[in-house]
Amino acid sequence: MLVTAGPSNLAPYIGRFAPSPTGPLHFGSLVTAVASYLDAKSANGQWFVRMEDLDPPREVVGAKKLIVDQLKTHGLVSDQPILYQSARLSFYEDRLQSLEAAAKIYRCSCARSTYDNIYPGRCRAAEIPQTAPHAIRFRTSQPVIKHLDLLQGFKAWRYGQDYGDFVVKRKDGLHAYQLAVVADDIDQNITRIVRGADLFDSTPAQTELYAAFATRYPETLHIPLVLGQDGEKLSKQSRAPTLSGQSPQTNLNEALKFLNQSPVQSPDPAEILRQATLNWQPSRISPSWGRIWPSKDLMLD
Ligand code: GLU
Repeated sequence: MLVTAGPSNLAPYIGRFAPSPTGPLHFGSLVTAVASYLDAKSANGQWFVRMEDLDPPREVVGAKKLIVDQLKTHGLVSDQPILYQSARLSFYEDRLQSLEAAAKIYRCSCARSTYDNIYPGRCRAAEIPQTAPHAIRFRTSQPVIKHLDLLQGFKAWRYGQDYGDFVVKRKDGLHAYQLAVVADDIDQNITRIVRGADLFDSTPAQTELYAAFATRYPETLHIPLVLGQDGEKLSKQSRAPTLSGQSPQTNLNEALKFLNQSPVQSPDPAEILRQATLNWQPSRISPSWGRIWPSKDLMLD
């Protein structure tokens, strides 16, 4: 049994915002960006932007540049040059090789339609030839994984019930999110992960990978998702309205309101962020999976 809760070591705080360029920034992604930024800055930490552009079929042309521009309009500037995952494929391949050397991964030829949700590990002992179409899966080893999130609290996941052997390289040859995100979070020495609550259930996969790379899983703070009137997560794919560049002050204050933080009156986004950093109290965020937010007026471009 692996218990992963607890503070990280005394390393200085390094946080990140890791958008996928599946569309421009919308109000939900702005909330995540603002929360991760304020949490890092209030601890005198650094804040990095990482573009998770590993999935060309899902990428929207122009979205990468637009996201970076939108962040800048809102005063959110990375403390290091932005890291683009698409430029790091050989690094992920190297990470895969180290997992292979430790016998932590295996080839799997099962079609998605042959199992329900959690993969039962059928190919663990199969000898799938290199030339046959296959995905690569991680051989999970913990029956139970427990984690204490700074906002959502304690949760335990059970092998076979809540998680299984997850894909680290897809059948189409693309490196999977779980592998790349962990490889990069470790490589960038991220000490606290602040992101949307929909990714809380990635904890078992990411904890296993951290352990395989002999690194302690960082602290996490999973913030509630912004839900539309239909109760669904605002998402780039579901065409949530693009954030307007006309009113970054309004957008930032709306994000602060969503996070239960005090508003800041200033025409300057950088000044709003500066004061919001001083005021930042993550314990005021309500610990739910998501909240319906009537924000459509403010986002129309
Ligand atoms: N790239 C992911 C997304 O846009 C976020 C990954 C993460 O924060 O771990 O949903």
